[in-house]
Parts: sequence; C-alpha cells; structure tokens
Amino acid sequence: MPEERKESLDFVRSIVVDDLKNDKHGGAVVTRFPPEPNGYLHIGHAKAICIDFGIAAEFNGNCHLRMDDTNPTKEDLEYEDSIKQDVSWLGWKWSDNKVYYASDYYEQLYQYAVELIKRGKAYVCDLSQDDLKEHRGSLTEAGLESPYRSRSIEDNLDLFERMRRGEFPDGSKTLRAKIDMNSPNIHMRDPAIYRIRHTSHHRTGDTWCIYPMYDFAHCLSDSIEGITHSICTLEFEIHRPLYDWFLDALECKCHPQQIEFARLNLSYTVMSKRKLLELVKSGLVNGWDDPRMPTICGLRRRGYTPAAIRKFCDIIGVTKYNSLTDIALLEHCVREDLNKTAPRIMAVMNPLKVVIENFPEGQVEELEGVINPEDPEMGSRKLPFTRELYIDRNDFMEEPPKKFFRLAPGREVRLRWGYFILCKEVIKNADGEIIELRCTYDPETRGGSAPDGRKVKGTIHWVSASHSIKGEARIYDRLFSVEIPGVDKDVDWKDQLNPDSLAIKPVYLEPSIDGVKPGYTCQFERQGYYCLDPDSTPEKPVFNLTVSLKDTWAKIQQKE
Ligand code: ATP
Ligand code: MG
Repeated sequence: MPEERKESLDFVRSIVVDDLKNDKHGGAVVTRFPPEPNGYLHIGHAKAICIDFGIAAEFNGNCHLRMDDTNPTKEDLEYEDSIKQDVSWLGWKWSDNKVYYASDYYEQLYQYAVELIKRGKAYVCDLSQDDLKEHRGSLTEAGLESPYRSRSIEDNLDLFERMRRGEFPDGSKTLRAKIDMNSPNIHMRDPAIYRIRHTSHHRTGDTWCIYPMYDFAHCLSDSIEGITHSICTLEFEIHRPLYDWFLDALECKCHPQQIEFARLNLSYTVMSKRKLLELVKSGLVNGWDDPRMPTICGLRRRGYTPAAIRKFCDIIGVTKYNSLTDIALLEHCVREDLNKTAPRIMAVMNPLKVVIENFPEGQVEELEGVINPEDPEMGSRKLPFTRELYIDRNDFMEEPPKKFFRLAPGREVRLRWGYFILCKEVIKNADGEIIELRCTYDPETRGGSAPDGRKVKGTIHWVSASHSIKGEARIYDRLFSVEIPGVDKDVDWKDQLNPDSLAIKPVYLEPSIDGVKPGYTCQFERQGYYCLDPDSTPEKPVFNLTVSLKDTWAKIQQKE
C-alpha cells in the first residue's frame, strides 16, 4: 500500500501498515473470519467479512475462514454450508482452499490446558454454576476465591483427565484459569476454560464430553493458524487482556494482535442471531432467506448484488464508535449498482384498460425499447403495441391537480418507448368506478416525439393487454416500523414488526422477460428494481421488490 494513502486509511489498516513497516510479523498479514455456525450470516457479518478478507487482499495476505464451532448444542451443518455459500457469493476466497475449524484443534487445545495446569495456572473447580456466579463478584465488588483454587498440580491433572474420560456429569466441574479474583475486569476473575457437556458435536461426534470456552479456544486457534491481526467487534475489547493472558501464560510463539471495531447496527431491522432465529422459528418471516431479513441469503433473494453490499461496507468504513447506520444507505447502494446493470422492463401493477380507438383490432406493431439507457451496449428489446393496453391506475386522474402531468381527460401523454396518446373518454361501471379509457394515438409520434414540435409533460409505462405476462409482485417494506426495535424495554420487539412489510399484487409484465431464471433482476420502469424469485413457475413469474426508485410525486404530495 503506497505511503500517501495512509492519511485516508482507517485505524485498522493504519495498524497493518505500521506493522508491515516495522516488520512486526515478518511481512505477513493473516486475518480470519470466525463465524459460529449457529445461524445464517447477516449484513453485520458482511461488514466483518469485508474487513477481514478485504485487508488480507489489499496487503497480499491471507484470510482464513474458520468455523468457531466450540459449542456443540447450537451448531449445525446447515449453517456451516450457508456460511460458505454466503462468503463465496460476496466474492471472497478463503485462503489455502480449505475451511478451518476450531474443532480440529480440540486435542491441541486440551494439551494447552494440561500445560496451563502444569504451570500452576489452571485448576479444576467443583463449584456449581450458581456458586460460580456468586463468587464472581460484580463491577463494584471483588470476587471470592474458590475453595478448590489451591488443589495440587497432580490432583488437577488427574481430575482434568477424568473430566475428559467422562467420569463426571454436566456442570459438576470446570477447569478454570488461575488469574486474579480481585481484578477490576470480571473476565480475568478465574474464567472457566473447559466445561463438561455430554453432547455430540456435529463434527467430532462423541469423542469429547468437555468443550473449551470461547476465550480460551479463540486466541489459541488464532495462534495455531499464525494469524497476525485478529479483528473483531468492540464487545471483545474487555476480553483482550484475557486473550493476551492465555498466549503469554503458554508462551506461544505466535501472538496475534486483537483489534476491535464497532459493529454494524442498521435501522429498522435486528441483527442478533437469537432474534433472527426467533423470527424464523415462530413463522413471523418465511425462513432465513425471507427477502425482508437482513441475512445475506435474504438480501440475495431480494435482489441485492455482492457489489452493492461491498460498496455499502466500503462507505460505512471502520471505526471504534458505535452508531446506527440508516438502512436507506444500504438501499441507496443497491439502487446505484442496479441502475448501471439492470435491464429495464415495463410492468403494470394496478391495471387500467386503455383502448386505442384508431389502432386496428388484431394488429400488432413491434416497438423498440432501450434495455438500459445507462449502458447502450445492452441493446434493445421488442415491445408489442396493440389496440388494448394496460396502464397504471395511478397514472390517470379524472380531475388532475396542478402538478399532475400524466393522463387525464382531454390530455395527451407519452407512452414510454411508444406514441403520444390522447384521452377521449372515461368509461365507468354502474358503481361509478372507472373501468376503461378510450384514447387515440398519433401515428406520427412513434419513438416519443411529435414532428410538429408539440410537447407532452408526462411519460407513462404500459403493456399490451393481450401480449403481457401475468405474474405476482411481492412488494416489501421495512421489517420493523421503528428505527431500533427492542430499544424500548416495555414493548416486545416482535410487536414492532411492520404489519405492511409484505404486499402481494398481480402484475402485468412486458413479454421480453419470458424465460428468465430466478435471480434475474430488472428495473420495472418508473417503479423500482425487482428480482425473479425461486417460487416462480413457467406459468407465473414471481418478482420480489429489491428497492423502489425515488418517487418524486410522493414527495410533492407530502409537501403540499
Ligand atoms: P453470537 O451472538 O452468536 O456470538 P455473532 O453475531 O457475534 O453472534 P459470530 O458468528 O460469532 O456471530 O460472528 C462472527 C464474526 O462476525 C465475529 O467476529 C463478529 O465480531 C462479527 N460480527 C457479528 N455481528 C456483527 C455486526 N453487526 N457488525 C460487524 N461485525 C459483526
Ligand atoms: Mg460471536
């Protein structure tokens, strides 16, 4: 990385640059992303992924994907597979073409624990879970030493081995580090490093009935793998002394530096895996990949692109200050990206029939629309023009207010990629509901301009009534109706879900989308970006709203 870029570097990259300059790790940069396979990854993880993999890539280093699988009760192969899929989809390659597992180090970690005992720095404690809590003290009170703290090294070695062999029931003993019950940092008050859990692990089966605690397993896994910079979120700052203590106590040759950054908090959603799991389990959303979820798979199904998510992570940057990021920024990023890449189609949601009186019945004229005005190389698409069309009901008003420039009785409007049409007559049913507009078109205006130079102010989208494809649009809004769900402790966060987060509407689609595959993303002109959902069938395409275009009309209405 060139020196002059340092000014604009975030604090993590500055540390890496300094370390390289001082040859701190012999010129190596090795990071890791250590998810616990107990849930699906979300947009917060994407931030961590972009930092861990991004820094490794920028400095010619390596980033390990490591499953932090030390808790056998909550982990699952399904989660592991989804993690790999999501990291790849975001565009990152884990190094050495292999996935690392904390569970692969169980034997090594066990030996490290034995070594700690031999050094007089760990002991087997028989206090119950409740007693342990009691002895821990509080922020204002020192802790109490365990009566088992002074057990001999021989006894400790013997008991620890018997713990491993399965001689004791769950919760009856723990192995604890012998540090300092008076430390102002509660994490340093003789923390547990092994607990007994007679539970099968999804990778190691029944080989183990004792499992290492996070703080012990994590720093040693980092050290075993030769990690140089162990980047994590701020809540681990207070664990850092313990991270360093284990590595010092065991005189590990590789002592990575733990660096903490502020996690991503995003408005109108939740990011706790516990809460996301609850939403899935209680059926409040349709699975982990429900397009309203902040999960990577949810965003993918919604039509988000890896480029948009990476751009978002780039913009939010890396700091040490906790803050709330506006979800509108994420939406902005995907809008910008899709604007450049997404083909345009016309789609009518609230159809109002228009009959072009001077266009012959049964005739089909082929018009042409540009696929993406941002990218002329994408070419054009064919648009069948027929006597009966659909336009959106919202594009017509019988008594238009001042700034309404779309269709109204006696008014002329431009059909996108087509002709000027003039509204001659409004047909209503017995209830007074408008059911049809009778219009004429001006054959001289093909392509959208009049040879006599007359102007129209509005352009509206349309489809041929006979040649459109009927599908379903799933229109999503924010998952929650409040900025920070759960911040008000008197209200159940689940009661703050937005009841209007999903609306399903029939939609009439331009025939050029025939045959597209799930994942296909396009812009419904004048409306928003939509992505074809896997629930689609050849008979009925289903489109998810990725993000809407900004609606200037709604803004004017709001102001008035
Ligand atoms: P848990 O409560 O289950 O520990 P977690 O969100 O911390 O949940 P992990 O699988 O442990 O999940 O996270 C893997 C990595 O992602 C960790 O390094 C963690 O710091 C980081 N991470 C998690 N949530 C966020 C977030 N909102 N913003 C940035 N990084 C995050
Ligand atoms: Mg975690």
